[in-house]
Amino acid sequence: MLKHDKYEDILDRIFFITERIVVFDGLEDVFEHIVKTAVSLTYAEAATIRVFNINTGRLEIIKGYGLSNGFLSQPAIRIGEGITGMVVLEGKPFLTEDVTKETQCIHKELAKLEGIRAVMSVPLKIKGNGVGCITVYRKTKESFAEHDLLLLSIFAAQAAEVLEKTRLVEELRSQATLDSLTGVYNKGALLKELDLEMKLALRHVFDTSIIFIDIDNFKDFNDTHGHLLGDKLLCDLVQILRHQCRKTDIMGRFGGEEFIVIAPHTDKDNALKFAEKLRRAVGKHKFAGRTGDAYISFSAGTASFPNDAIEVVELIKKADEAMYFSKKAGKNRVTAWSSEKMKKK
Ligand code: GH3
Ligand code: MG
Ligand code: MG
Repeated sequence: MLKHDKYEDILDRIFFITERIVVFDGLEDVFEHIVKTAVSLTYAEAATIRVFNINTGRLEIIKGYGLSNGFLSQPAIRIGEGITGMVVLEGKPFLTEDVTKETQCIHKELAKLEGIRAVMSVPLKIKGNGVGCITVYRKTKESFAEHDLLLLSIFAAQAAEVLEKTRLVEELRSQATLDSLTGVYNKGALLKELDLEMKLALRHVFDTSIIFIDIDNFKDFNDTHGHLLGDKLLCDLVQILRHQCRKTDIMGRFGGEEFIVIAPHTDKDNALKFAEKLRRAVGKHKFAGRTGDAYISFSAGTASFPNDAIEVVELIKKADEAMYFSKKAGKNRVTAWSSEKMKKK
C-alpha cells in the first residue's frame, strides 16, 4: 500500500481541508489558493480551475498550476464538450488513470505533450448549479484512488462557497455608492453625480457650484476626544450640513474629513453665501466631546460652473485651491475661487 493511501494520511488530508479557513483579498487570490490546495491535497502534480464565462458562453481555464503555457492557453470549451465540459454539464466527478485513452478527451495531443496520464475532475457548484470544475493531473502512471476523488469533492464544495462569497463581496464593493460611516455618497459616486450635474447644467444653461469643505484641526479633535467621537462628529456634521441644504443639493465624502456639496442652479455669489451659511451652522453646533460639548470649524472653498471650470476634475481642483486659501488665511472661513486671489496664496 502506498503511503498516501494509508488511513492516517487520508485523515490528515481531511483535517487539512477543514483547517483552511482563510480570508482572501479577491477572486484572483481564491483561484490561486484553489489550484495549489487541490494539488497538495491529492498528491497531484498539476491542477486547473475552469469557470463558465457568461460573456463568451464558454468554460475557460482561469488558473493553472504545474502546467505549461501551451497547455493553459488551449481554447475555451463549451458546456458538455470534452471531459471537463461533461463534468460541468452533468455535475458529476470524473476519474481516469490514462486520459490519453479516453474517447471523450478532446485534447489528447496536448495531454501527451504535457505528459499527463491520470486525471480527476470535480464540479464546482453554486446553489446546486455547475459553474465550473477543478481538475487535477498526475504525470506518473499512478492513478488516483476513490478516496482522492472524495477528498477533492469535499474541497470543491468548500472552494465554491468561498468563490461565491468573494464574488459577492467584490460585487458589493463595486456597487457601493454610499460612504459606510456617514451615509453620504462616497468619492466615486460623488464624482459621477457631479459629472451628471455638469452635463445637465451645460445642456440647460444654468450655473452649478460646489463647496469643498475640510474640517479644521480634526487631528487635534481625534487626539483630544478619541477616534470614536471623531467618527461621530463626521456623522453629526453631515446631518447639520444636510439640514441647511435644498433637496436638490448633493453631498459626498471626498476623503477622510473632506466633504463636497454640489449645489445645482447656484451661481458664484450664491455659492459663497451658501458656504457661509453652512460654516455658521457648524460653528454654532455643540458636538459631543469626551467631557462635554466641543466646537469645531471648517475651511471651505467654492468653485462654479461655467465661470471657473467646465469640467469635473478642474472644478474640484479649483474648489480645493480656494479651500486651501481659507486655511492659509487662518481657517474657519470660506473663499470663492478667483484667479487673482489664488495668485496671492
Ligand atoms: P487642517 O486644519 O489643516 O485641515 O488640519 P487637520 O488636522 O484637520 O488635517 P489633517 O489632514 O492633518 O488631518 C486630518 C485628520 O482627519 C487625520 C485623521 O486622523 C482624521 N480622519 C480622517 N478620516 C477620519 C475618520 O473616518 N474618522 C476619524 N475619527 N478621523 C478621521
Ligand atoms: Mg484634509
Ligand atoms: Mg482638516
